[in-house]
Amino acid sequence: MPLTAREIRQQFLDFFKSKGHIIVPSSPIVVKNDPTLLFTNAGMNQFKDFFLGTQIPQHRRVADTQKCLRVSGKHNDLEEVGKDTYHHTMFEMLGNWSFGDYFKEEAIAWAWELLTRVYQIPEDRLYATVFEGDAAEQLPEDEEAYHHWLKWLPADRILKGRKKDNFWEMGDTGPCGPCTEIHIDCRPDDQRRQRAGHTLINQNHPEVIEIWNLVFIQYNRLKDGSLEPLPARHVDTGMGLERLVRVLQGKQSNYDTDLFQPLILATEELTGIRYDGGQSYQAISFRVIADHIRALCFTIADGQLPSNTGAGYVIRRILRRAVRYSYSHLSIREPMLYRLVPVVGEIFHDVFPEVQQQSSFIAKIIFEEEQHFLKTLETGIQRIEAYFETAATREIPGQLAFELFDTYGFPIDLTRIIAAERGFSVDEAGFQQALEMQKNRSRQATALEVGDWTILSDGLTRFVGYEQLRTTSRMLRYRQVT
Ligand code: ATP
Ligand code: MG
Ligand code: MG
Ligand code: MG
Repeated sequence: MPLTAREIRQQFLDFFKSKGHIIVPSSPIVVKNDPTLLFTNAGMNQFKDFFLGTQIPQHRRVADTQKCLRVSGKHNDLEEVGKDTYHHTMFEMLGNWSFGDYFKEEAIAWAWELLTRVYQIPEDRLYATVFEGDAAEQLPEDEEAYHHWLKWLPADRILKGRKKDNFWEMGDTGPCGPCTEIHIDCRPDDQRRQRAGHTLINQNHPEVIEIWNLVFIQYNRLKDGSLEPLPARHVDTGMGLERLVRVLQGKQSNYDTDLFQPLILATEELTGIRYDGGQSYQAISFRVIADHIRALCFTIADGQLPSNTGAGYVIRRILRRAVRYSYSHLSIREPMLYRLVPVVGEIFHDVFPEVQQQSSFIAKIIFEEEQHFLKTLETGIQRIEAYFETAATREIPGQLAFELFDTYGFPIDLTRIIAAERGFSVDEAGFQQALEMQKNRSRQATALEVGDWTILSDGLTRFVGYEQLRTTSRMLRYRQVT
């Protein structure tokens, strides 16, 4: 019997506990106190101040599982989600940290021990990448990591990688350092014999995937671009739980694991359609739904409601994306996503009880959003279909993209997806221009700046969401259609 996701997560935490780590809770997925970040996108976010040296950690060895969302800013995986089988919007990042304590030797040895001894992943399926250096940027090669890997892996399975994948920096200046990534080749043996795994690393191959990244923070980059060694060196690692579970459960897709299967099965029941795991729009829709409902549940549970601005609009876009897939490819005409909320609650009831505890509240929010969007979605789709029939070029004009946005509530990325499915592109510049013109019109109509408090309650949970609005007239117009 393969291990369950619950057991796999627990074994990770127990392993690092046995190596002297304190297990800490995940920080919220919604970031409230950092103007540079809307959502937590990596395990290290909550420890940023330790690396910057502005706060002293209480413990020098820490491990956890962190709720992450990668749909905006530096890490935006939204386009891949559903199309591939291993990038999610919301995922759990397992991590271990050393704040000025152990460094490369132990981090690499323990990663190896956990993967091959505890989880018993066959050694010959694993690869490591190390930083090859970058002369133009005055960054040295990571010989130390290479040397430590040689204790565990033959030289032909340790690859040198470029800055893009193997060097981490917080910003243009500040703490930074090389990283070493662990990749796994899950292909069947005959395929592995035909083509060496190392040629497929970082090539978007669905079965040769990155599972763990170990970052070694050892430099401080100064304003003039030069590096100085940090007095305290740190380790920051991240491993995607869903990918690990898929490997250990012997599946070809993260969606076939026990983290997603209950959602896939529930969607089959709700739609009367069978999921075949393929690349059809129908199969992609199942994956999009199973993925997006998790993102919606976790962000709403942590206090972010869908709205028209900022983080709230990110959530609304995710929701509308899921609604559109279910409408166009699964023939869903009534709100449906909200019915999956208890399934998410159940999957995470012990590790993240916040979803189950607020289940009825979250379902209510999602139901209302779905109902609103379904009102305009159909007419919007008819509008765009009519255009496809008569179009002289294979481009959606900016003005039409704007109309879909303004009148039917289609976020631009949604229009982009619908267009791509029919082999069309979108005149993005024209869309931006139409958007600017609209903004200018509203600015002239009213220069008033208002704050709008939304108070929602399901009797048990009280939540107060805040929306900052630039103009009242724009808001009123928008409200009518959303
Ligand atoms: P990839 O190259 O596959 O996009 P990454 O290099 O962007 O991954 P890191 O920032 O190194 O990812 O994050 C650490 C780990 O988190 C990865 O090794 C992977 O296991 C996991 N991970 C990253 N992005 C996602 C995602 N969108 N969904 C699920 N797991 C992810
Ligand atoms: Mg990535
Ligand atoms: Mg990568
Ligand atoms: Mg990586």
